[in-house]
Amino acid sequence: MAIESRNPATGEVLREYPEMDAAAVDAVLESCHAAFLSWRQRPIHERAALMARAADVLDSNREPYSRLMVEEMGKPIRQARAEVEKCAWCCRHYAEEGPGLLAPRDVATDAARSFVAYEPLGVVLAVMPWNFPFWQVFRFAAPNLVAGNAGVLKHASNVPRCALAIEQVFAEAGFPEDVFRTLLIGSGRVSAVLEDWRVRAVTVTGSTSAGRAIGSKAGELLKKAVLELGGSDPYLVLADADLDAAVASCVASRLVNGGQSCIAAKRFIVDRRVARPFEERMAARMARTRMGDPMAEDTELGPLARHDLRDDVHSQVVRSVESGARLLLGGAIAEGRGAFYPPTVLAGVAPGMPAADEEVFGPVAAILEAEDEEDAIRIANDSLFGLGAAVFTADVAKGERIAHTRLEAGSCFVNDFVRSDPRLPFGGIKESGYGRELGELGIHELVNVKTVYVAAATVAPGAPSTE
Ligand code: NAP
Repeated sequence: MAIESRNPATGEVLREYPEMDAAAVDAVLESCHAAFLSWRQRPIHERAALMARAADVLDSNREPYSRLMVEEMGKPIRQARAEVEKCAWCCRHYAEEGPGLLAPRDVATDAARSFVAYEPLGVVLAVMPWNFPFWQVFRFAAPNLVAGNAGVLKHASNVPRCALAIEQVFAEAGFPEDVFRTLLIGSGRVSAVLEDWRVRAVTVTGSTSAGRAIGSKAGELLKKAVLELGGSDPYLVLADADLDAAVASCVASRLVNGGQSCIAAKRFIVDRRVARPFEERMAARMARTRMGDPMAEDTELGPLARHDLRDDVHSQVVRSVESGARLLLGGAIAEGRGAFYPPTVLAGVAPGMPAADEEVFGPVAAILEAEDEEDAIRIANDSLFGLGAAVFTADVAKGERIAHTRLEAGSCFVNDFVRSDPRLPFGGIKESGYGRELGELGIHELVNVKTVYVAAATVAPGAPSTE
């Protein structure tokens, strides 16, 4: 199978790569493992300094990396630049904070000294999606390389040039050869890589079905896994919300990256007392979106990343309308060769419809009506997913209470849209996966949390031991 880089805005094939054979994969794993053995011995401040250099490489190549992402998966150029900047931020964050977060922590016990240390595990396999082709990789790589792990990347098959460019970022920054490598392989080869003894853990960002397949394999092999999977984030709009501000946030979150974000707003659960004005303002605002060439500076919505994914989104819209949803805007495949899909608004969405039950990965807003606040919370939690959620209300204390104690999701925002931040943990519950990236937890997930105990006095031979 060839791995193909195709421009979704034009349908043009930009480049094809032969898939690596088993011998090539073996050679990568061997050299990556060998690199790990010396990398782990490097003082952490040296590993951190190299990560800061990776940030500089990203900054100085922001334009070519941004254009590469636009060409391979169609995101608007301004969003691509912001993505490269965020990657640099993440690298700098872990360059600065990593050594402190990984410093041994003394714990007072009966010992002369006992402490908790954070030791690297080895080669970590990263199975990554195309939607944020740089960001998803850096949010795994920055903490893990600083922690002393090595990385092999199996990127999504439609972004091979991004995958190879990221390998180059670390090479250019001066990382030892082979500490971070890219495998150009299809998804059918992931299991075999995970089975390899040199691979010690896996992190997956992708759909729930990919997470289920890889997570069960990791379970069978008893290898640690972090699963960052799909979502259908609910945005609750309560009766007292500032409607214009809520609509602005909701539209921004629904359209970011062409609607192809795990934490995009996907279900708008609106108190029935404000449902009509919300629907009207949402449709009006979505209708003003500038869709077109993703390289153009003023484009807000590019094509979706692949034609088959565009067709999946359209099918979800059509089936939702057939089940009774009201189409307020869009809903028709745009003419032309690109994988474009117009901003679309569905109202009257209800459980049983794809727009309510499934993840819709495109610029489609699904509006559901709630009787009141309690009903809105119930609908929000009535989902297989639990990644992000937001609540809009004039009563900030109430919003905080709902976010804190009522919503079943890994990240809950009040009066703002959900986004990740290197300083805060990120991840989901339920079928959105498990484990956390970013923040303090993100650098502690794939390390050996080691207890070291130095006895106060020599223990007499034969003395009873306890576990
Ligand atoms: P995907 O189809 O699941 O692919 C993700 C990665 O998994 C790709 O590298 C893919 O390889 C591989 N893969 C797919 N099925 C596999 C299997 N059965 N065994 C082994 N590997 C497999 O997802 P996507 O379409 O690229 O990305 C969109 C999904 O990712 C959405 O559901 C989105 O919500 C989720 N996502 C989650 C987060 C988060 O942080 N929670 C962030 C971003 C995206 P191939 O490309 O070769 O098939």
